[in-house]
Amino acid sequence: MSGSSITSETKEASAEYLRLTLSKLSQMDLPVTPVNYTLLYAYVAGKDVKLNTQLDKLFENWNDDYARDLFGQFVCQCDETEYRELREELVMTIAQILGSVIDLAGKAAISNSTLEKHLEQLAVSNKPKDILNIAAEIIADTRNFIEESRQFETNLIESTQEISNLKDELDIARRMATTDSLTGLHNRRGFDEALIKAVENSHRRHDNFCLLILDIDHFKKVNDKHGHLVGDKVLVGISKILQKQMRGKDYLSRYGGEEFAVLLKETPITGAFTVAENLRRVVEKLRLKHVKTGKQLDQVTISIGVASYRKNEEIKEFIQRCDKALYRAKELGRNRTVLAD
Ligand code: GH3
Ligand code: MG
Ligand code: MG
Repeated sequence: MSGSSITSETKEASAEYLRLTLSKLSQMDLPVTPVNYTLLYAYVAGKDVKLNTQLDKLFENWNDDYARDLFGQFVCQCDETEYRELREELVMTIAQILGSVIDLAGKAAISNSTLEKHLEQLAVSNKPKDILNIAAEIIADTRNFIEESRQFETNLIESTQEISNLKDELDIARRMATTDSLTGLHNRRGFDEALIKAVENSHRRHDNFCLLILDIDHFKKVNDKHGHLVGDKVLVGISKILQKQMRGKDYLSRYGGEEFAVLLKETPITGAFTVAENLRRVVEKLRLKHVKTGKQLDQVTISIGVASYRKNEEIKEFIQRCDKALYRAKELGRNRTVLAD
């Protein structure tokens, strides 16, 4: 083995071969001698198919003499002096490869601080034994790292699952916070958020959007006549029929008690009026029955105020205008749609 083998491979490959070699030596509980190291390095680097076949046999039943034979056959036949030189060279080689490993700190399977420690040790050691000890430590560190990585991976999978569960819970909580529990429609809070978004959008894209405020006529009478529970069912029935009429980006919400609000994006006032009239007629035609008695309930009607958002208008002012139109519809006799000024 010579120093040139380092330069003929990429740093990444040398570092990986070193790691595999040291790992294999450790796994087989073999001392880091030039013969063992060189043979195993050649093995993991796959340099000679024939040598690898022989080594596979040797691994099954390790024998130092046979290992030396293979070394002589495939690497070099050395006398004592050559063998000592080779040992020095091995130490240099390991030192060089360790240097490469350190270069690769970002990618290597050993943490930065551990590598720095090895680097410091290398800088002060010039004895082969010391360097080989460092190599042994790297094997141990690599093992630890693999174990830690596995643990880390397990933890990461668990954490990812937890984050996903939390996200689901958060989604549910967010949906619940903007949903009306009786009717299942968006609630006032959801409406307020949607209205702010619609206003922002209108500033950015200059599109018309309209608001309808719907109020059930004489709803108090329904409660008075049939009780609050029936009143609730009527609210649910009307919500369903209104929801059925919604299209695309229409946003229907329960604005309060027996009032509903609809946001119609990208819709001019004439279109909004048509939608409102359709809703009014659909409710007017609705025939609700008392579940227990089977008797038909009195006809339910709604009044509607319609307003188109004016450029740069305050939200409060916009809602007031729409409310005023609704109030006017009530004044004019209910079951009707009135456009805001
Ligand atoms: P108007 O035509 O002027 O709107 O008359 P109204 O009776 O509908 O209006 P008013 O504001 O006098 O009464 C609203 C009624 O709606 C009173 C309240 O008890 C009822 N109400 C509000 N929220 C609910 C609810 O969640 N369930 C039931 N059953 N009734 C509700
Ligand atoms: Mg009301
Ligand atoms: Mg009412």
